[in-house]
Amino acid sequence: MSEQFDVIVIGGGPGGYVAAIRAAQLGLNTACVEKWVGRDGKMALGGTCLNVGCIPSKALLDSSKHYAHLKHEFADHGIDAGEVSMDIPRMLARKDSVVGKLTGGVAGLFKANKVKSFHGTGRLLAGREVDVSLTDSDEKVSLQGKHVILASGSVPIALPGIEFDGEYIVDNVGALEFEEVPEKLGVIGAGVIGLELGSVWSRLGSEVVLLEALPDFLPAADADISKQAAREFKKQRLDIRLGTRVKSAEVRKKQVHVTVEDESGESELVFDRLLVCVGRKAFTGNLLSDDSGVELTEKGQIQVDEKSHTTAENVWAVGDCVRGPMLAHKASEEGIAVAELIAGKSAHIHFDTVPWVVYTDPEIAWVGRTQQQLEEEGIAFRSGSFAFAATGRGLALGHATGMVKMLADEETDEILGVHIMGPSASELISECVVAMEFKASSEDIARIVHAHPTLAEAVHEAALNVGGRAIHRVN
Ligand code: FAD
Ligand code: AMP
Repeated sequence: MSEQFDVIVIGGGPGGYVAAIRAAQLGLNTACVEKWVGRDGKMALGGTCLNVGCIPSKALLDSSKHYAHLKHEFADHGIDAGEVSMDIPRMLARKDSVVGKLTGGVAGLFKANKVKSFHGTGRLLAGREVDVSLTDSDEKVSLQGKHVILASGSVPIALPGIEFDGEYIVDNVGALEFEEVPEKLGVIGAGVIGLELGSVWSRLGSEVVLLEALPDFLPAADADISKQAAREFKKQRLDIRLGTRVKSAEVRKKQVHVTVEDESGESELVFDRLLVCVGRKAFTGNLLSDDSGVELTEKGQIQVDEKSHTTAENVWAVGDCVRGPMLAHKASEEGIAVAELIAGKSAHIHFDTVPWVVYTDPEIAWVGRTQQQLEEEGIAFRSGSFAFAATGRGLALGHATGMVKMLADEETDEILGVHIMGPSASELISECVVAMEFKASSEDIARIVHAHPTLAEAVHEAALNVGGRAIHRVN
């Protein structure tokens, strides 16, 4: 006899756990099935994001940023720290403690909201029956849902012929666990994850080489920002080699020999460790029986409509396993929207206003369209920008690199995109997301009082500059 639920969620990452909590808040009897085994051998909720993604990477980015600032920048403030050293095991233990607090927090929220969790691998059968192979025993339990939400996430893509060995050739999981600083670290892929994890180890002393097949750096960002970012990262000794395709890699005598091809032909590079960050793909392994009714796309993602409904009745899918950006906040918003739709409310997601953040130093963040996209689409726009070097707060902080660039419709003045490279760009972008959600014009931001001295004044001045009336720069 199957246990009955209003909603069964498969996967407890930011898509799944958020959907489960919202469904329970709405009075639906909810279960969540998660297979992740934490460091303590027990179920860990939170998925890739909390366990081996967003959170541990930011913990290491913050630790390594403190170290780099102490070593290279504190002297400017008159602070002499003497000999500085880094205790890598302690840094990793701190990261694990941050992860533990958050995954434990989700378990607490499940309890408080009466979400029943099952530690095991869930498989969707026909008619929304879910078989759970329990992790701690050979037993299976059978669940029956009025609705099922699939939130099975994603896994790293491997390059053909380059196998992860967990020690020398690693993915994000391995790169969050190096017990000592590799002297030479190769990173394949200069995307968001490669840049973030490459930055961590570079700040701690690794000689980092990023090998990127594409000829352009960060092509998804606005070209003015990616150009400035490339220059800044070069200054930070991140060696980014564009137009360089990795063909093969082999471990010999505790070193990784990598064959690359660029415009001058083939050559070999040797590293102590190699991190492969060439993207992620939807994970649906063993998730669906042949007669579940759920179809996959050509890319292997779960096929959904604009409301995240799959091809099977009352089966939904959210997060990295479906179309759209692979971002935690996108997964969570989809999870909330689906829970609300199930509860009979209306809900929708605005993909146009999903913010992107790269947690390098300085940070890069954007929302909406880039200048190159507007030009391709033939949309007439006006642009305004402002450099952090002209902000009092940026200079006082000692972090005044980068700028804010705002793009607004030439006719209506509606903000179409905002692109930031600079200190706390990840936080500053929120104002711009809110503005775009409310269909604000650059004039609206220009007329809003921004506290002085703050970094947000750069957003204000960029908006003023759209109208040719910034105060602290020549227009
Ligand atoms: P996941 O988090 O992958 O969760 C899916 C869960 O489903 C997993 O726990 C898995 O064990 C479970 N599961 C799968 N199949 C089954 C099954 N059959 N039965 C039971 N359980 C199952 N995004 C950001 O927005 N900001 C960032 O700063 C950021 N940094 C990142 C850094 C790194 C190094 C990486 C790798 C990713 C980062 N991301 C970031 C991306 C973010 O982690 C993902 O977009 C997010 O985790 C997707 O959430 P999800 O719930 O769809 O999937
Ligand atoms: P992202 O999709 O943001 O995770 O970035 C992954 C990056 O890896 C992309 O910019 C790809 O161009 C790059 N990439 C993929 N395959 C290779 C390869 N064989 N050699 C070098 N770079 C690659």
